[in-house]
Amino acid sequence: SGEALLSEIIKCSNFAAIKHKNQRRKDPESTPYINHPIGVAYILTNEGKITDLSVIQAALLHDTVEDTDTTLDEIKEQFGDEVAGLVDEVSDDKSLSKMERKNLQIKNAPHKSYKAKLIKLADKLYNLRDLKRATPEGWSEERVQEYFVFAFGVVAGLRGINDSMERELDKLFKERSISD
Ligand code: NDP
Ligand code: ZN
Repeated sequence: SGEALLSEIIKCSNFAAIKHKNQRRKDPESTPYINHPIGVAYILTNEGKITDLSVIQAALLHDTVEDTDTTLDEIKEQFGDEVAGLVDEVSDDKSLSKMERKNLQIKNAPHKSYKAKLIKLADKLYNLRDLKRATPEGWSEERVQEYFVFAFGVVAGLRGINDSMERELDKLFKERSISD
């Protein structure tokens, strides 16, 4: 029912807000971190036209395991196996170096499930728009361009599943003259 969907979405939002409460984004205004997972979920509903509950739940939770003390067991207990599985699919392995994690994102993207690919597309779209809006403290123009090139490599493995998000990403890559 509608009430049940709504309460699940609010439960995820509340959980993520508590988990990310002390974190800030890298933009010069140090925006509250929770703006990002909410924004990713909004890209999925508003632009991707995605109404699948598990996708929206996992989008709201997508950085809790990677970036806070949250465990997958906790996600499983609170939100069930499907949402936990999706969060797992979109989380990097924190035991690896940053360079290994970046290379694995590119290598593994094509093998992700359809739902995980949707979340990854929206996550990259949000981050690239954020970088276009404001350069993080201490980032050179070269570092920003490097991130766009990295994201292009990840997105290459996520294509063919959502025209509107892919078109928006392609506009951003074209502005930076990135193509293969
Ligand atoms: P990134 O350079 O990958 O930082 C980007 C990540 O930060 C995003 O994926 C996003 O992750 C998160 N993020 C937070 N705020 C913002 C924002 N405002 N805009 C966009 N993304 C944001 O990660 P690290 O800082 O961990 O650096 C690791 C990598 O950077 C290394 O591979 C290293 O090689 C490279 N590096 C390059 C330098 C250079 O000058 N070229 C200098 C130093 C490092 P999420 O969606 O999970 O929030
Ligand atoms: Zn993210």
